[in-house]
Amino acid sequence: MKYTVITGASSGIGYETALAFARKGKNLILVARRKEKLEELRTQVIEINQQLEVIIKVSDLSDTKQTYELYDSLSEYEIETWINNAGLGDSSAVVDEDLAKIENLLSVNVKALTILSTLYARNYADTDGAQLINVSSGMGYVIALGSVVYSASKYYVSAFTEGLAQELKDAKLNVKILAPAVTETEFIDRANNVENFDYQTGVSHFHTAVEMAEFMMALYESDKIIGIIDGKYEFSLRDQIYPVLKGL
Ligand code: NAP
Repeated sequence: MKYTVITGASSGIGYETALAFARKGKNLILVARRKEKLEELRTQVIEINQQLEVIIKVSDLSDTKQTYELYDSLSEYEIETWINNAGLGDSSAVVDEDLAKIENLLSVNVKALTILSTLYARNYADTDGAQLINVSSGMGYVIALGSVVYSASKYYVSAFTEGLAQELKDAKLNVKILAPAVTETEFIDRANNVENFDYQTGVSHFHTAVEMAEFMMALYESDKIIGIIDGKYEFSLRDQIYPVLKGL
């Protein structure tokens, strides 16, 4: 039995990605804090294919201890694909930041993603067909004023993951980045502390989470490193974007 791990599977891009992988016949390990949402998702997955196995893992990835415990708890499973999708945004000028909120953001977006990527890469570098996909953002390639901390956290995700992809380019594990732009999920509600943000009237362009999951699947099935939404809101598959310095 092989499994696909998806962090942040309880809503938005992670939720729809789980359904897309289920349609491809993949067994799933679903990670988030909200158990009831993961159980609802498991019911939907089983409706798609009742042969699939779905494991639910409740974990708060802002807590480093829980992050290590999550990885350790999965040692009995063969993990074909690991998707670090859990993440959160924040809209504020740096000087006005709520430091507790950005500590939490950095713990999930940067620290947990790095720990889980490192452990997975260490264990699966030599495994045929293994993939690590980290979810960054278009804001990981352009500094978004008004969301500088979030943007910088996603620069980290992109730089770390592009660098890891280069380090492992002769290994069997494929390392990739999905860089969405605005996508209709719970993301803006949480980032801006609002309820039911209306994407239709609130932004000029956006994708649905179902569309983003289709882009995730296209990236998964490609031999490119990056799947990114460009300035015209079109999805494209690309090679390395950041320059690389070798030999230090
Ligand atoms: P979302 O609907 O808010 O989903 C975020 C997911 O992350 C939820 O499943 C949430 O689950 C999980 N999560 C948050 N904090 C967590 C924690 N402490 N521990 C464990 N899980 C946690 O947002 P989304 O848009 O689907 O976001 C998915 C990824 O896409 C993020 O990395 C985000 O930065 C990136 N992205 C989103 C957009 C956009 O416009 N939506 C654009 C670019 C990039 P629980 O709350 O149940 O724990």
